[in-house]
Amino acid sequence: MDTSFALPVSALDAVLPQVDRCARHGLPSARRVDFALQSRPKLTGSNPALGGNVLATAGRVAEHAEKVRVTRIAGWPLCDRCVRTRRWWLLIASVCFWGGLALLIGAIVARIVAGQSAVLGIPMIGGIVLAIAAPAPFVLASLPRITRARTSDDGGAVLVRDAHPEFATQVRSTVDRLPQHPG
Ligand SMILES: [Zn+2]
Repeated sequence: MDTSFALPVSALDAVLPQVDRCARHGLPSARRVDFALQSRPKLTGSNPALGGNVLATAGRVAEHAEKVRVTRIAGWPLCDRCVRTRRWWLLIASVCFWGGLALLIGAIVARIVAGQSAVLGIPMIGGIVLAIAAPAPFVLASLPRITRARTSDDGGAVLVRDAHPEFATQVRSTVDRLPQHPG
């Protein structure tokens, strides 16, 4: 069963400032981040993510939608662990990219200065491999990955995979306190 926890996009701006637990670990928020989430409409009509365990508003979102929507998220809480994980992967990504580039350029320069040398092929290939690998840690550092959030297929709700109970409880109680919008 999918354990995604759904937040209606219409309630995000009212709910997020009241929530001070991270969605992943349930730990106190250490930093707030802004990012954009893109919906990925599926070709099949079914949406198992919107099963029983969702807020009422989220259940009303249409199942079929073909347009990709971008949801802007402001003030999403991240705990210390989330922030550290993100920094760590960003660091690895930049070491791969810049380190790879430096190796490559160094090998090219050395080859120009010293002439043909089979030994220089190793840093050159290593540099290319590192630079090519750099997007992987960069993706791991991305906020959608760190927050485990994605939009529902029609962009009407933000779904959090395996949301921590502390986070879910806070969101639920905040949503309950919101004035109900007509429709
Ligand atoms: Zn966290």
